[in-house]
Amino acid sequence: MLFIHPEECIDCGACESVCPVTAIFPEASVPEQWQSYIKLNYAAFGVKK
Ligand code: SF4
Repeated sequence: MLFIHPEECIDCGACESVCPVTAIFPEASVPEQWQSYIKLNYAAFGVKK
């Protein structure tokens, strides 16, 4: 799994448009079924949400 640092990402969208499996979303637009991954991305970098 690839993690994106939630505080370093500037939501430019460059990676979102080229992801071949549509796995990247701006935090505010993460679909309901993938919401739990937001916390995982924060935890991966030791950042509290
Ligand atoms: S949206 Fe993607 S390409 Fe843009 S800053 Fe965030 S991780 Fe990097």
